[in-house]
Amino acid sequence: MDEYLVVGNPVEHSLSPQIHAAFAEQTKQDMGYAKALVPLGGFAEFVDRFAAGGGKGLNVTVPFKPDAFAYVDEHDQAAQTAQAVNTIILGGNRSRGANTDGVGLRTDLTQRHGLALAGQKILVLGAGGAAQGILQPLLEACPSEIIIANRTLAKAETVVQAFAPLQGETKLFAVGLQGIVDRADIVINSTSMGLQGETAVLPQQVIEGAFCYDLAYGSSAVFCAWARDHGARAVSDGLGMLVEQAATSFEIWRGVRPATQTVYSQLREQIDGPKQAR
Ligand code: NAP
Repeated sequence: MDEYLVVGNPVEHSLSPQIHAAFAEQTKQDMGYAKALVPLGGFAEFVDRFAAGGGKGLNVTVPFKPDAFAYVDEHDQAAQTAQAVNTIILGGNRSRGANTDGVGLRTDLTQRHGLALAGQKILVLGAGGAAQGILQPLLEACPSEIIIANRTLAKAETVVQAFAPLQGETKLFAVGLQGIVDRADIVINSTSMGLQGETAVLPQQVIEGAFCYDLAYGSSAVFCAWARDHGARAVSDGLGMLVEQAATSFEIWRGVRPATQTVYSQLREQIDGPKQAR
């Protein structure tokens, strides 16, 4: 049986084994998928051992995406742009790395939530690994503006510089979290504040009528809950992104694209209870 893993630290909370087991059953793939807690500083050694034992691939979560980027021999374009890898393909002489986070978000926004991104003004909160993973797919959708707002302004400015060659007609700005003043059509929270039970608090005029998306999901989606109570037109947590990025990883490994809606609905119900399920 072909073996896959999700590795992180922590990793206990990961829903990926459940998602990939459902995909494997649906597409009749003979594969195993488990989670593994990897010690900080021990990423390369762990993956070497997994590869030597015949492992076929890994998903990589916080904090190892940059380590995974450094580990693999080849990168797809999304990984190269984000400087982070969330999907490793093993086997053969050379390991390959992909980043499916951004495509997962865009698919969730456009297909599950029916948003048109072209011409929209998008505010991205945070400038970390997740923000860098989502920027290229967002830019490809031709929004009118993307504003990257980060606690550490210098980091947002560095990210804007790095992505400037890809901006096309889209205006790309960096601001500090206190510098957000204008209304946005879509607000995407990519900070990790929710993991600490906190959220960025935005001026009412920024959020009024906006579609607000939190990359975090479940009880960590604190921004999502805050936006719902402060005039957002609609809100979503990042569960759909999680399922869509997993589907793209699965397709890269197995050559078949699983359908996602049933898995998404099951997890939605598991997290929110039956009444909230869509
Ligand atoms: P990261 O690289 O550690 O970046 C964290 C970001 O949050 C930075 O911009 C940081 O600002 C900001 N931040 C942290 N604490 C803050 C605070 N107290 N006040 C203001 N800003 C704060 O993390 P990441 O990999 O980007 O992940 C971010 C989130 O996305 C996590 O919740 C993760 O679970 C989620 N995510 C979800 C999916 C999905 O499939 N749904 C995929 C990937 C990531 P500074 O630069 O100032 O430190």
